Amino acid sequence: MAFNNLIGNDKIKSLLQKAIENNNILHTYMFLGIDGIGKFLFAKEFAKMILCSDANNKPCNKCVSCIQFDSNNNPDFTIIEPDGKVIKIEQIRLMQEKILEKPIGGSKKIYIIRDADKMTKESQNCLLKTLEEPPEYVVMILLVQNEGQILNTVKSRCLRISFEKISDIELKDYILKNNILDNIDENMLKLCEGSIGKAIKLKENEILYRSLIDILENLDKLDLVEILKKAEIIYKEKENILELLDYFNVIIYNIYTKRLNDKYLNCILLVEEAKKRIRFNTNFDMTLDNLLITMWEELNN
Ligand SMILES: [Zn+2]
Repeated sequence: MAFNNLIGNDKIKSLLQKAIENNNILHTYMFLGIDGIGKFLFAKEFAKMILCSDANNKPCNKCVSCIQFDSNNNPDFTIIEPDGKVIKIEQIRLMQEKILEKPIGGSKKIYIIRDADKMTKESQNCLLKTLEEPPEYVVMILLVQNEGQILNTVKSRCLRISFEKISDIELKDYILKNNILDNIDENMLKLCEGSIGKAIKLKENEILYRSLIDILENLDKLDLVEILKKAEIIYKEKENILELLDYFNVIIYNIYTKRLNDKYLNCILLVEEAKKRIRFNTNFDMTLDNLLITMWEELNN
């Protein structure tokens, strides 16, 4: 079954499924919704279905197109992403050159523009030419978090589909049924933010996140030496530190909502401060030391 790895947003599933069945696929879609809600996963699955060469069972996961798709090698599928903070006009121009080349494998070519709201105005105006006269074989899916950033002229040429957040109950149910995690507490559920993708990622780092929760929940109970010892595991996560610090804040906020101690809100500010320092390439170990110590002091003084 198509979309069987994705939960929630059932209306959207059947809308896209019907488009495939009736061979009524439009040139431009705009998927709207907050980050982590599944827009990208839905768009990818939809693209895979469109490109699949099996007549009845899309995606079949067996045809050349599906196999290429799963190994990120399908020549008729392209993802455009921000280069730095924005999607530059050069990226759109390059895409427009490539769009003119006919599909290689089948009858369609698909482009997903991720974070399409990060297109500059110039990029959007440039894209407009393609939206107005798309080659017959092209399908574009624009993923948008902040609709206000998109020009009306662009919006009006897309079929807009709004995604709803998956409820914590649905998500918990899915995670347990599919053995993504053996058990999930409220903190971990919050870390998933209604996103199955995040839950899977969480599994990969389960030990790390569980110790993170352990550290933050015990900041006001253990002495500093014990905290720093428990925190050793975090020091190995240099690569993912910004993401990890976001998780710090989710967990801290969750603790705050239970304990209603304003000191936890101050801890969130300390985490934000640490994020800034790390973005400015301040020494990683020192920043983390400093963060843990100041948070500990905040809660224990
Ligand atoms: Zn297939």
